[in-house]
Amino acid sequence: MTDFTLKIDSDGVGVITWDTVGKSMNVMSRDSMALLNDLFDQAVNDDAVKGIVITSGKDSFAGGMDLNVLAAIREEYKDDPAKGLFEFTMNGHHALRKIERAGMDPKTNKGGKPVAAALPGTALGIGLEVPLACHRIFAADNPKAKIGLPEIMVGIFPGAGGTTRLVRKMGAMAASPLLLEGKLNNPQGALKAGVIDEVVPADELLDAAKAWVLSEPKIVKPWDEKGYKMPGGAPYHPAGFMTFVGASAMVNGKTQGVYPAAKALLSAVYEGALVPFDTALKIEARYFTQVLMNPSSSAMIRSLFINKEALEKGANRPEVADQKVSQVGIIGAGMMGAGIALVSALAGIKVVLIDAKQEAADKGKDYTATYMDKGIARKKATAQKKEAVLGLINATTDYDALKDCDLIVEAVFEDVGVKADVTAKVQAVTGPDCVFATNTSTLPITELAKAAKDAEKFIGIHFFSPVDKMMLVEIIKGAKTGDVAVAKALDFVRQIRKTPIVVNDERFFYANRCIIPYINEGIRMVKEGVEPALIENAAKLVGMPLGPLQLTDETSIDLGVKIAKATKAAMGDAYDDAQDEVLFWMFDEGRLGRKSNSGFYAYDEKGKRQGLWEGLSAKYPTADEQPDLIDVQHRLLFAQTLEAVRALEENVLEDIREGDVGAILGWGFAPWSGGPFSWLDIIGSPYAAERCDQLTEMFGERFKTPDLLREMADKNQSFYGRFSAKAKAA
Ligand code: NAD
Repeated sequence: MTDFTLKIDSDGVGVITWDTVGKSMNVMSRDSMALLNDLFDQAVNDDAVKGIVITSGKDSFAGGMDLNVLAAIREEYKDDPAKGLFEFTMNGHHALRKIERAGMDPKTNKGGKPVAAALPGTALGIGLEVPLACHRIFAADNPKAKIGLPEIMVGIFPGAGGTTRLVRKMGAMAASPLLLEGKLNNPQGALKAGVIDEVVPADELLDAAKAWVLSEPKIVKPWDEKGYKMPGGAPYHPAGFMTFVGASAMVNGKTQGVYPAAKALLSAVYEGALVPFDTALKIEARYFTQVLMNPSSSAMIRSLFINKEALEKGANRPEVADQKVSQVGIIGAGMMGAGIALVSALAGIKVVLIDAKQEAADKGKDYTATYMDKGIARKKATAQKKEAVLGLINATTDYDALKDCDLIVEAVFEDVGVKADVTAKVQAVTGPDCVFATNTSTLPITELAKAAKDAEKFIGIHFFSPVDKMMLVEIIKGAKTGDVAVAKALDFVRQIRKTPIVVNDERFFYANRCIIPYINEGIRMVKEGVEPALIENAAKLVGMPLGPLQLTDETSIDLGVKIAKATKAAMGDAYDDAQDEVLFWMFDEGRLGRKSNSGFYAYDEKGKRQGLWEGLSAKYPTADEQPDLIDVQHRLLFAQTLEAVRALEENVLEDIREGDVGAILGWGFAPWSGGPFSWLDIIGSPYAAERCDQLTEMFGERFKTPDLLREMADKNQSFYGRFSAKAKAA
């Protein structure tokens, strides 16, 4: 069996079917690209073939390129990887351009054989770039299918002609959400947007595509005809000029200039629009190679694609039998419990949702009803689906309802006593195989496990808020947690389609441990007289989604005060309280953040953020001399990164891949960097250690170079070189 096969039907249509061996979805490898090329040659040169249809043997068309290919090319062309990557890209262009020209005479555009793409379902990345090279794209009317070019999400851009073809087909303005934001559409949406050409019932797909290729259609692409004008205007056309100026401003505004792929994409589009099509493809290939050669892109591909997927597939799952959850009991139907109930029911898992009062349990269930209503309004769900999902949730105060649950997720108040009480009440009903998980954000798992009958079956499953949006779930092993509980947690996370990391039990686990120093560093700078706007902008310019002051407002000042007090009580003299004065003052002023419409920022009555609050600099005047931007940025980045390194040193993290993926998905650590360990690898351990020495001298011991980093700097080692043979850069 091979990934592509060619069958010439009696009606004279050559059907090329893509069916990647051993995968549930088609992915393009180097070999399969070469095979497609050969089969196309065979079909187009065969006199018996009147037209060609490219389709799939699966219920989707293709998920994209196998990005591991890029790592293989780098390895193969060690001395000159750019050469290897450019040649690989140009080979792809030649193969797809051949499909597009389909044997037409280069001068007269006469002759050639019609080629249609027939997409039974999802078509992403190169899975759409191949169809874009065909003469007409048919898709089955499958509302669940996703069609688009999501490359930008992993730090690259469509480099197999998708960029050049889509812009020429739709115009730069219309193509921009698809290229710059990786927006995906279902088939009807893709038809409306002009990405594909026809949507037909699934059982008529192949016949429709065949009928079209046999109808002697016109097949010359508009850009291969004389006098072609780009829809919406090329850059020197008045309308086109406005588009490109606007797009450039928008990209820089959104990316703060830290994402090389977005800039390169825009350059490829702009420069490509000024030249003939084949030259534009070459320009696209050059920018694509430039992006692939940027360490940020390799790091993003590694963390956001390769390693994220590996973790989702259970890279660190203990080898025990399948632990799929059939019924989950959720205790506490507040903000978190309601969200966990929603994502569980959406995954088809039966839920028992318990709260102390029936109204509270019902309110928790209503969260799912409201969520589904919004989906119905946006045509993403149906009334039947809503009924089915709600039918899975039993909202009650009756603990007996938990007796058949195989997993419990406790999300009651953050209080050891309340949690212990609930644990005992639950375990009076549940069976011995039921795994008990707590969603605590700050309390030690080992401590909470003391209230459980069997500490081996006790674990932390830490969700982030809002549960339905946040993709990371942090699984925390207590000192006695056993393999079955870990597997249960991982299988549950897989069922609800989120990304897990597994860490050991230390104060604040992993994510909160790293984000708290970021917030604290921002607040202590306020006290030092650093301009609040400088603090916030420095964070954004280095790729953090929210500045530390805005983040404090979002998570609330009272939560900050609570954590500060608890940490001080636990750490005693070792606690560094430099940020507390500002935090406590804000609390005393009643400025609790977004929820009180007042915090480090001012808000209007509707809760819209207005700008930094002027009273802040009245109380903490800004210094005449302000620090350099890079120092502020490094304070903010190292505050998080050094905590990640310490978590690795202390074995809280067992796998740096989890450290990187968890940082990006959990708290938005500068995604362009690929995560804290990838960032240290980009800047290099010798420089990182030297910089820590400087920061320590300027700002204090919290920047002290961790022993591990010092040792690695002395040996000039990288984290991925030293810790992860499996996770080489893509
Ligand atoms: P919440 O106050 O919104 O909800 C808690 C719910 O638990 C309430 O509905 C309350 O009535 C119920 N409850 C309290 N005692 C109970 C008992 N004995 N029996 C049954 N129900 C009881 O709180 P939340 O924000 O949903 O947080 C819940 C847990 O999740 C806490 O441990 C918190 O630390 C953790 N957590 C919160 C966040 C967050 O961002 N809010 C993030 C991660 C983890």
